[in-house]
Amino acid sequence: MKFLLLFPYISLYSLQFLIIISYNVEIVKIYLINLVVSKPKNNLPLANRNNLNMPSGKVHDNIAFLSVMPIFMAGHFFCGFSLIDNLLLTLSCVICQLMFGPDLDTNSKQYKRWGLFRLIWLPYRKLLGHRSRYTHGLLWGPIIRCIYFTITSFILFIGIIYAINYFLEINLFPLLLQIFLFVINNFSLQNFLNIFLPILCGLFLGTAIHTLTDKIASFFKNLI
Ligand SMILES: [Zn+2]
Repeated sequence: MKFLLLFPYISLYSLQFLIIISYNVEIVKIYLINLVVSKPKNNLPLANRNNLNMPSGKVHDNIAFLSVMPIFMAGHFFCGFSLIDNLLLTLSCVICQLMFGPDLDTNSKQYKRWGLFRLIWLPYRKLLGHRSRYTHGLLWGPIIRCIYFTITSFILFIGIIYAINYFLEINLFPLLLQIFLFVINNFSLQNFLNIFLPILCGLFLGTAIHTLTDKIASFFKNLI
């Protein structure tokens, strides 16, 4: 019966593989065409040649997708985390690499994925230099991002409520105060830490993977 336990892992690995293939479908297509028609790389059209040189953002994304299962399995088999802790850890690690990572300090894929809400990261970009220790640092990076995001999203939330009040001529603040008091009265530090700690660990891990990738890439670029 034990082999049945392998089924969810094989399914998840297959899913991860499919996501990576679909994400890189353009590159796979170019390689396959190149293989079939046996054209040397230099004969390919310029746009296709450029696609072969994966941009840094794409490399980070691929590493994020590839890291899902190893982190999940390491958390389960080596650290003995519960399923919920493990899911929170893995999910926050991947989200950190895709849109909550160190490259929010520049006009990157991570930054653009916030869509209209990217505006909240504009001061972060302007105040902290690209690849500084406050964005890419293993310790300071995630801590500063968490504090920054909490403050700016709170300001944005209050701004949205204020705008709704103004345009609809209603007052939502008493209702918000009631919800806030309800949350405070039912707040449990233990429950909060149970959720927050795996998420924080995921953010540290995601930052570490990103910064390590940057360092390795810089090392090899310097060699060339
Ligand atoms: Zn970076």
